[in-house]
Amino acid sequence: MNEYISETIKAVKVKNAGEPEFLQAVTEVLTSLDPVIKANPQYKKNAILERMVEPERVIMFRVPWVDDKGFVRVNRGYRIQMNSAIGPYKGGLRFDPTVNLSVLKFLAFEQVFKNSLTTLPMGGGKGGSDFNPKQSPHTPGKRCSDAEVMRFCQSFMNELYRHIGPDTDVPAGDMNVGGREIGYLFGQYKKLANEWTGVLTGKALSFGGSLIRPEATGYGDVYFAENMLAMRGETFEGKKCVISGSGNVASFAAEKLLQLGAKVLTLSDRSGAIYCESGITEKMLKDIMFLKNVKRGELAEFAKKTKAVKFFANANSWQLADKIDAAFPCARQNELDANDAKYLLDHGCTLVGEGANMPSTPEAIAAFIKAKIMYSPGKASNAGGVATSGLEMSQNSERLSWTREEVDAKLKGIMKSIHDNAWEAAAKYGHKGNYAMGANIAGFVKVADAMVAQGVC
Ligand code: NDP
Repeated sequence: MNEYISETIKAVKVKNAGEPEFLQAVTEVLTSLDPVIKANPQYKKNAILERMVEPERVIMFRVPWVDDKGFVRVNRGYRIQMNSAIGPYKGGLRFDPTVNLSVLKFLAFEQVFKNSLTTLPMGGGKGGSDFNPKQSPHTPGKRCSDAEVMRFCQSFMNELYRHIGPDTDVPAGDMNVGGREIGYLFGQYKKLANEWTGVLTGKALSFGGSLIRPEATGYGDVYFAENMLAMRGETFEGKKCVISGSGNVASFAAEKLLQLGAKVLTLSDRSGAIYCESGITEKMLKDIMFLKNVKRGELAEFAKKTKAVKFFANANSWQLADKIDAAFPCARQNELDANDAKYLLDHGCTLVGEGANMPSTPEAIAAFIKAKIMYSPGKASNAGGVATSGLEMSQNSERLSWTREEVDAKLKGIMKSIHDNAWEAAAKYGHKGNYAMGANIAGFVKVADAMVAQGVC
């Protein structure tokens, strides 16, 4: 490996000890940049790698709020403003007890390359809190009430609003931050800033949201995979697919796969995984979406009422089916390890399309690349969400709303561009078919060139 790269990784490890997810993401990206760093000495001269691994700004703050019983609760809020070379910071907010500096720095770092790949002018950021909307602080087994979630979101925004704006930083949703939370956050921002701007994306249609935004990450993941299949003259018709998660990304990936004639065999959540040998139907998927999004329940409940489905408590989706053509990890980071990868490869899987961020461990990725299957890294194949957020920003600036068909056509076009750019970058640097390398290189070069042009800042 190039010495500049290995020295940078070493320094990052020393400076960021105790941040395993961030170190994993940095190592994965930097080690794949070898040929591009060798061919472009200006990047070393301008300390581009050292600057890219250092966030432009890290904001950490106290989030006090009052629960339904009148007790004061305190959470920690974050916003990582990672890189603004090619546009305002852009990236989601995650509310989950697993949120910490390491997780958010890894997500913000990945976001820089992802946003660059979308072809839209967006920098990279990420934020969130260790707040857990799925667990009430006073009643075990119960979720936070809507009023508690609202009071938390308002307090979170009381600090965040100072650091964001339509031309500065435009947050969106991520895990546990959906339409309800974005609505509360937007309402509080509008009150504090006394202005109506497209400062958050993922808004409801009645106040500036974009059609297809909820569907965009899952649909985009499948569009990317369609492009990979097309390179081999294949389609999704009849393909057996396994999906993890049953949230936003997973459910819309499943919906698109069904529309394309694929068979969806599995979905999962924190309670376990469901397996349906005959294939999850559109009706079942609608019921699951209602259960997860409206009733806010668990797949275990769904399985109890549905004969065609088997439930595996605390299991993931990877090792349930005997024959698998394609896998879509759409839940969380490091959810698919070397054992799972081996199972998938042994059972016929020739395509892995990551919907989540960094869902495959480094060992699993190595196995996919060695086997030369179609493997797309999350930063490329889940970029449809942020790309459509970019389209929402454009519509807000122009005070216009595009039709569903218009947004879907633009999303498809963007996913094809991302696919083609990743393919071409990999081929140009001698690694034809390696989308992981191609996505890292294509995403990196655009940001690096902008940083060189903007001087040392
Ligand atoms: P959601 O919160 O809507 O769904 C997450 C899903 O993952 C849920 O089914 C959840 O189960 C499951 N899950 C989470 N943690 C665990 C765990 N520890 N064990 C088992 N299952 C778990 O999130 P999204 O669908 O929005 O996001 C999923 C992934 O996609 C994340 O990596 C996110 O960063 C990434 N992503 C999302 C984008 C978006 O537009 N939403 C854009 C780009 C990337 P349960 O329902 O039980 O909580």
